[in-house]
Amino acid sequence: MRDWLKREPLVIAEGRGAVLRDLRGREYLDANASIWTNLHGHNHPKINAAIRRQLKKIAHSSALGFANEPASLLASKLIAASNKSAGNANLKSQISNLKLKKVFFSDDGSTAMEVALKLAYEFTRRTRGRTVGRASPRAGSSVASPHPKFLSLDGAYHGDTVGAVSAGHIDLFHKAYSGLLFKTDKVMSPYCYRCPFNRAKPERADARDYRKCRFECVGLVEKKFAAQKKKGNPYAAFVFEPLMQGSAGMIPQPKTWLKQVSDIARGHGALLIADEVMTGFGRTNSQLKIKNSKLPLFACQQENVQPDFLCLAKGMTGGYLPMAATLTTQNIFDAFLGDYEEFKTFFHGHSFTGNQLGASAALASLEILQSPASALARKNLENVLRNELQSLWPLPHVGDIRQVGLIAGIELVRNWRTREPYELRDRAGIRVCETMAKRGVLTRPIGNVIVLMPPYCTTTAQMQKMIRALREAVSEVFIETRSTR
Ligand code: PMP
Repeated sequence: MRDWLKREPLVIAEGRGAVLRDLRGREYLDANASIWTNLHGHNHPKINAAIRRQLKKIAHSSALGFANEPASLLASKLIAASNKSAGNANLKSQISNLKLKKVFFSDDGSTAMEVALKLAYEFTRRTRGRTVGRASPRAGSSVASPHPKFLSLDGAYHGDTVGAVSAGHIDLFHKAYSGLLFKTDKVMSPYCYRCPFNRAKPERADARDYRKCRFECVGLVEKKFAAQKKKGNPYAAFVFEPLMQGSAGMIPQPKTWLKQVSDIARGHGALLIADEVMTGFGRTNSQLKIKNSKLPLFACQQENVQPDFLCLAKGMTGGYLPMAATLTTQNIFDAFLGDYEEFKTFFHGHSFTGNQLGASAALASLEILQSPASALARKNLENVLRNELQSLWPLPHVGDIRQVGLIAGIELVRNWRTREPYELRDRAGIRVCETMAKRGVLTRPIGNVIVLMPPYCTTTAQMQKMIRALREAVSEVFIETRSTR
């Protein structure tokens, strides 16, 4: 905080497309899409118009006990988009009973996760003893579950409210609050670059591509589920970010990992809670073939994983307004139905739930996202990003470059041959980002990892400028230690 107080604050006054302008008129590229929220660029005419249209009717009315048109329409569109698979014909029948059918709106990524955690907790408490889980071989067994337990990934981050923090496993953010939290278990996540099971020597390539292992990390997930089952209280739910863990340091999952661990979780009767707060809305999937512009919008769909809870926020309104959604199944919904005096309702709600302005922005954003032009632009931009990232490999302080769709994490190291990390106190990531800012590119590091997450409207020239700024910043910051190559 002291560092921050010493510096002149950068006050953003305007934005257009991928460009931000500060009060002094200086321009910057928004290289992390305003903390991973912005999809189509700032001041998008279609989203602006949708909000203006809605504003003439009403800005907000309570959704507690009432419905409104834009939120209901948005719910139906989210459901339609979330149940599309990436082309597996058999999947439809396999998952018909798990279809996402219900939407609970809230305010941001953290509350979307709170809702999923509370629903999963209460659903499990109410149903265990009669059934453990629909897809479970244990269905019908009678395990009382006074304290349903959650399993999440090492390095997990799911938000800053107390429930979301409880499911998180980043000591730096979470340890101070341990006294406030409920206990969750963690299991190894597949961080191929620093995986103790990866026997491959470092190469100048994404560690997922040259790893030498036998998916020992998947074995550990199986063990964890088995051990918990032995204790007589199988995990209620498995919480994960699909394809890439964001705040953990942009940790991508090798192909099939997600499918394998999801199958294990299901086999043990656990619900699946997919946190797509970062990965949702087209961030991860532009390499798939475009069929009638119907690119799946969510990361889970790429591995044909059907979660019981899909948590969405950040990009949902195109990055315009704080609004979030937790999608779930009929099964979960039904567990909260009862006569009034049974008080089985889900006692949770926020004042701005189902906000009309947010829903209008989200509807406009979805329409843009599902247009052929947007799908093509995302695909092209992803290719540009992939090509441009190659120019970073010659830098000796770049250890790993991890790209999933339109997300990239570049891990800085003292020496790429040894993977020796910088200490936090070296502020390696911060220094590089500060130097990039001087070159007109704004992003925020996660420790030693530089994040690039461009808005989808970013031009080739702007993408090249982002990478050039990063390349020059790394060279400038580490100039004195270049000899380690
Ligand atoms: N989940 C993930 C994966 C996130 O990246 C974040 C925010 N970075 C959150 C949840 C929390 O979202 P919010 O900041 O909107 O509460």
